[in-house]
Amino acid sequence: MPLNPEQRKILEGWMRSKAIVQCPACGDSSWRFAEASYVRALLEAESTDLAEGEGVVKVTCGNCGYVVLFDAETLGIRGSWDQRRNL
Ligand SMILES: [Zn+2]
Repeated sequence: MPLNPEQRKILEGWMRSKAIVQCPACGDSSWRFAEASYVRALLEAESTDLAEGEGVVKVTCGNCGYVVLFDAETLGIRGSWDQRRNL
């Protein structure tokens, strides 16, 4: 599911704070934040569907299509999914 505007802001701010600016593949800096999305879980075989514990955020490079995945909890996005907390 797509990130809402607040979550996008968190993602952008977080990436900037970690100096993750350029795409590791092509060196461009045109992440498609508008299309960033929350991926519920990368499931292992046999694990049940997970509510929200292991979500990741997916961002695609606008130039080359390289996809990066970040742990949603580390970004601080996880908890803000249902409850609109003031982060
Ligand atoms: Zn790229």
